[in-house]
Amino acid sequence: MNELPTLTPPPSDFILSLHKAELQLHLEGTVDPPTLAELSRRHPTPLSTTNNRYSNIEESGRVFSEEEARELYAYANFTGFMWAFKAVTERLRTADDYELVTYRMMQKLQAQNVLHAEVYISAGVVQWRGQEFAPLFAGAERGRRRGEQDFGLSLFWIFDAVRHFGIEEAGRVVDEAIRFKDRNVAGVGIGGDERKAGAKQFREVYAHAAEHGLRLTVHAGETAGPESIWGALRELKADRIGHGLRAIEDPELVRYLAERQVPVEICITSNVLTGCCSAVEQHPVRKLFDAGVLVTLNTDDPDMFHTTLAREYQIAHQVFGFSDDEIRQLAKNSFRASFLPEGKKQEFLAKC
Ligand SMILES: [Zn+2]
Repeated sequence: MNELPTLTPPPSDFILSLHKAELQLHLEGTVDPPTLAELSRRHPTPLSTTNNRYSNIEESGRVFSEEEARELYAYANFTGFMWAFKAVTERLRTADDYELVTYRMMQKLQAQNVLHAEVYISAGVVQWRGQEFAPLFAGAERGRRRGEQDFGLSLFWIFDAVRHFGIEEAGRVVDEAIRFKDRNVAGVGIGGDERKAGAKQFREVYAHAAEHGLRLTVHAGETAGPESIWGALRELKADRIGHGLRAIEDPELVRYLAERQVPVEICITSNVLTGCCSAVEQHPVRKLFDAGVLVTLNTDDPDMFHTTLAREYQIAHQVFGFSDDEIRQLAKNSFRASFLPEGKKQEFLAKC
């Protein structure tokens, strides 16, 4: 397992006070150990599911103390991270659970002066498990509305499908996104194993989403090479690339991204901890930024990767020498790359 970069000092006041947006944030990855312990007490019985392939039935009935939840998050390899992620998703079972984790996520975002977030919700995982998504999403929406009121934060949802669950599953996720389009659902995304399921097969599913006015993001170039990013751009017409760090292996691709200002959702700590990047110093964030790519900084699964958005900005400063002006540019990029309507974008940009 790669080491987390040590930060001295912690995020500066300048970084904390900077207004910013977060564009790659998985709701399930914002569940902290106390909340996981709380959820596990709410659900002390195993998950009954119509699709056992995804679930570990016995584990899903375990009650965690806060200490045990912390131990689960102190994993030593990628499999350990997957277990932690599953432990959370298996305990998100009711509308109230979704409301709770959405509200707490927004509270943590406000503490770092995040004004707008575009949050992935794993509709694909919920459906794969055999649960109905609509009532759970209604809970998440309750959390969003309360969070907007209490923290003054704007939030869009991105419904997330899983590549290796196949085309039909992805199609169902898109259908749900179309159905709930008027409830702050800005777009669809797809994650999962890039090597097992290339972009091409999802072409029609993505075209269907675009026809209904949904915006498109694709996790690509995280575990697979530049060809995966080309696939996301050419086959799926992605508006934004999730991760995209391996674009750096193809100079033509870097030029393409820079010329067309295709935003890239960079997640430094995530890439180091999952082993996609061998060490933090090896991360291409600086090279991509210097090449003119529209780089944004994000956390991916902050509580599971022991990070915050402010921490990611501090890493950019401390490890990669981003100046205050460049840090401000990254914050501006986060609004420019968002799916906000133009007027709202300008309003937020004026605050950077
Ligand atoms: Zn992600």
